Parts: sequence; structure tokens; C-alpha cells
Amino acid sequence: MKEGCGRKQGVPSPCAACKLLRRRCAQDCVFAPYFPADEPQKFANVHKVFGASNVNKMLQELPEHQRGDAVSSMVYEANARVRDPVYGCVGAISSLQQQVDVLQTQLALAQAEVVHLRVLQMGLSNHGLSPTSPTNSGSPSSKFMDTQPKHAFDMDMVEHASLGDSLWC
Ligand SMILES: [Zn+2]
Repeated sequence: MKEGCGRKQGVPSPCAACKLLRRRCAQDCVFAPYFPADEPQKFANVHKVFGASNVNKMLQELPEHQRGDAVSSMVYEANARVRDPVYGCVGAISSLQQQVDVLQTQLALAQAEVVHLRVLQMGLSNHGLSPTSPTNSGSPSSKFMDTQPKHAFDMDMVEHASLGDSLWC
């Protein structure tokens, strides 16, 4: 790789990285395509968190078509670290992971309810042939709607709670 020899006199301004590092921006500057002069903060945070020489090393080790993605990842991580010096982007990841867990639980409950209602519907359409409906007098649908799902959820909650307790003891 040639260094500095391809430099032109007509280059208008150094890239954000070379400007911050107070060095001459060569034509084949590894930072120039990803850190334009009009976005100085982008490189400032990356430099603060990773160090310019490490960023340089990482970019040199990558094939050119992967460098853009690597830079966006480093910029994201650096900005998160500046915003939250303790957790950095791990804070965002774990809060999103918690949301995923909550939503997966909700989804599982909703799917269980769908299955439960389908079973009820089958029992009702069989008109007493189902062994799960002991009496068919009155209006069984409203009775089941009111009681069954709640019992199912309560039992789930109890099971989860006791499982959790035994795991943590
Ligand atoms: Zn440069």
C-alpha cells in the first residue's frame, strides 16, 4: 500500500479524522470515506472510545466492502458509551432484551388462550359429545369464558413462580 505519494495539491479539506489528529490527509486516507469533514463529532467519539490507531488497524484488517458496516458499528458503540459510560450499548441491548422477554411471555399467554378457546369452541360445536363439558344446560359458553382462562393463567403464574423460586434457592 502506498502512503502519501498519491496526494494531490487540490484536495480541499482533510477528513474529520485527519483534522482532529492534525495530520495531512492523504488521498488514500483510510478514514476519509467514512469520516467526512462535515461530521466532526462522528470521529471525535470514536477516537475518544476506541483510539484512532485502533480504528485505523481495524479498518486496515477488513476488506473494503465491510469497512462501512464496521464504522457504523463503532460509531454506534462509541456514541452509546459517551451517553452511558457505565453500560454503553449493553444498556440498550439489555433493555431491548427485557422487552423481548416480556413480549414473548405475552405472546405465549395469547397463544395459550387461542388454543384454549379453540378447544372450547370444538367442545361446544360437538354438542355434549366432548368429555370436557359435563353439563350442557343453560349457557355454557359464558360460564367457560368467565372461569376457564383465568384458572389457566393463575396456574401458569403459580408454576412459573415456584419454578423461579426453586431455581434461585
Ligand atoms: Zn484523512
